[in-house]
Amino acid sequence: MASFSAFNLSTKMVASLEKLGYKEPSPVQTNIIPKALKGESLICQSETGSGKTHSYLIPIFEKVDPNLPRTQSIIICPSRELARQVFDFAKELCKFFPKHKVRLFTSDTQKSDNTDGLSVAPHIVIGTPGRLKDVLIDEYPLDLHNLRSLILDEADMLLDLGYFDSIDAIYGALNNDPQVMVFSATLNESLKEKLRRYISSEFLYESEVNMTAKGVKHHYVDIKHVGINEALMNFLKIKQPYLAIVFASKKETVNQVYAYLKQQKVSCIAFTGDLEQRERRKSIRLIKENRYQVVVASDLLSRGIDIEDVSDVISLDLPSDIDYYYHRAGRTGRFGKEGDSWIFYNSDTAEKAKQLLDSGIEFDFLTLKRDGLVSDPVGLLPKKKFSKKKAFGEEEAKEIKIVKANTRTNKVKPAYKKKRQWEIEKVKNKYKRKAIQKAIRKKKDEHYAQMAKLKGGE
Ligand code: AMP
Repeated sequence: MASFSAFNLSTKMVASLEKLGYKEPSPVQTNIIPKALKGESLICQSETGSGKTHSYLIPIFEKVDPNLPRTQSIIICPSRELARQVFDFAKELCKFFPKHKVRLFTSDTQKSDNTDGLSVAPHIVIGTPGRLKDVLIDEYPLDLHNLRSLILDEADMLLDLGYFDSIDAIYGALNNDPQVMVFSATLNESLKEKLRRYISSEFLYESEVNMTAKGVKHHYVDIKHVGINEALMNFLKIKQPYLAIVFASKKETVNQVYAYLKQQKVSCIAFTGDLEQRERRKSIRLIKENRYQVVVASDLLSRGIDIEDVSDVISLDLPSDIDYYYHRAGRTGRFGKEGDSWIFYNSDTAEKAKQLLDSGIEFDFLTLKRDGLVSDPVGLLPKKKFSKKKAFGEEEAKEIKIVKANTRTNKVKPAYKKKRQWEIEKVKNKYKRKAIQKAIRKKKDEHYAQMAKLKGGE
């Protein structure tokens, strides 16, 4: 079994992690911690729930010199919630390293908080780009000499939200070349281009091909003609999830579904960008305390937020940027746990839902009935692939001929035509089933071949 003691970590750190219940490092941590400890810059493309935050927090904590009254690490996150989450993890570590000073700067930390107590420089600073820029450069020029590491967490989101101007300003204010560690769920060309200024090193760790954890099972659910509210209510009754996050791309849908569930006396909460910062924080705290069974949310909640115990993620629709599906699904199956991600669709939304079929994720297909979920072997798989003529044409034609011959009669018995047709239908159905099974097998084989290829290329 891998162990934290195999790394070049202090016994105090290993003991602290043990106390926090972190017995063995995750694959991301195994790959990142040794490099980070050596001070190397790196890019890590990691799935959500993989333990990536600790893969940088642990080395940072190890390397901070608590006797040096200077800011030694800056961690930049794209949202207040994410920054606070990282801050909370850091505070946990501070219990074992009380001399390490960590500060959080986001637009919802009080202005007075920002400069209070800064006569003693925090060793580690965590925050959102705009606020950090104000504090570090404009309002209170902290001494950034000796900055050892700069961390960009969820870098793809930092870029999407246009935060690189502030980050560039912070980076430009440094007078040395710190270690830069970048963590991102996706890594496209424009992000790589942007990062060139920050990272010359070639090291790139890719933890997973698709970005959701291995323990997550993905399902398509055909809700047929039933409305979204009724379908969801029925689904909740059938599955009785422990804690479900229900995602919808529009906040109007979120509010409407939330109102309906509330009326139906479901223990639920809504989470959208409409909430004030204070309310958002309170909501996240209550959700983490397992006060609700259902959270109805916009995609604001789909990125990075770590809520343990989410058993089910339900997508009432798919996000316009399909990558967000991975983020949604990544809210469950956190850290080796198991979870289910369900996509609701019907004939009107099937086309959009098909976008994910080639993503390399394995799905199963279900139909939501009043009293349960039943398997639908065809689902969204391309129907033309089931053309029985193509797959089993000759065999089937031969068998039908035999049936016809066996049911031929000179005397016209009652219902003879019906019986004959019935026998022929049976043969046709048998081949239809065979064709479907063959297509599903083929799809699976293709998927495994693709995964093997990608693994081989790592
Ligand atoms: P992250 O991928 O950083 O969002 O982390 C996901 C969750 O994994 C957090 O709740 C951490 O507390 C937890 N975690 C991180 N490292 C470990 C570990 N080595 N063993 C167990 N849990 C961990």
